[in-house]
Amino acid sequence: MGHTLYLKQMELGEMANYVYLIGSTRTKEAAVIDPAWEIDRIVKLAQVDEMRLTHILVTHTHPDHVGGKLFGLQIQGVAELLERVDAKVVVHQAEAGHLIPLAGSNIKRVDHGDILNLGDVTVTIIHTPGHTPGSQCFLVQDCLVTGDTLFIGSCGRVDLPGSSPEQMYDSLTNRVMRLDDKTVVLPGHNYAAGRTSSSIGEERKKNPYVQCRSLAAFLRATGNA
Ligand SMILES: [Zn+2]
Repeated sequence: MGHTLYLKQMELGEMANYVYLIGSTRTKEAAVIDPAWEIDRIVKLAQVDEMRLTHILVTHTHPDHVGGKLFGLQIQGVAELLERVDAKVVVHQAEAGHLIPLAGSNIKRVDHGDILNLGDVTVTIIHTPGHTPGSQCFLVQDCLVTGDTLFIGSCGRVDLPGSSPEQMYDSLTNRVMRLDDKTVVLPGHNYAAGRTSSSIGEERKKNPYVQCRSLAAFLRATGNA
């Protein structure tokens, strides 16, 4: 069914965020993952491609991914998008509370293993706490949208309020890196010069943060020991 996958990556805003549109070319339904910074451009791309935005998928609720106040900036996000489209906001249950002021009754709380259908394209929720308690990755066919959990060559920060280096180690080791080497990695930021995607196999070979053989080694690598 790979031929029906619709997938677009946009780099938006001042923090090199990647926003994704993902859906079905057959049914023309799509989700936007982590809408923020330039809502007009996101809506326009969906319009040009004749895709109907039925869902908003949230990897985690930091303002550079869902909108809100950050360092004195007011970033557009979920609230502004919901003024334009009527979509379900899919967020991990651990962080749904953060989105109530922005999304109210549109919120759909999910947990690890839940499945979502975008037309004939299936999205599997993989809960990957560590960067934040409700961080989650989205597995769509052979693509994994990783938010701030896994970057090309690195992983998300674990020194922020709500972060847990222990949980990040567990999420990377027992969830993300259990996926097939062919899985395409689509990160939440452009932090790798000239590279927009990777694969689980390539990260297994080159990413020092997923090569740690113990929690103690991971804590040392992330400056937590
Ligand atoms: Zn973040």
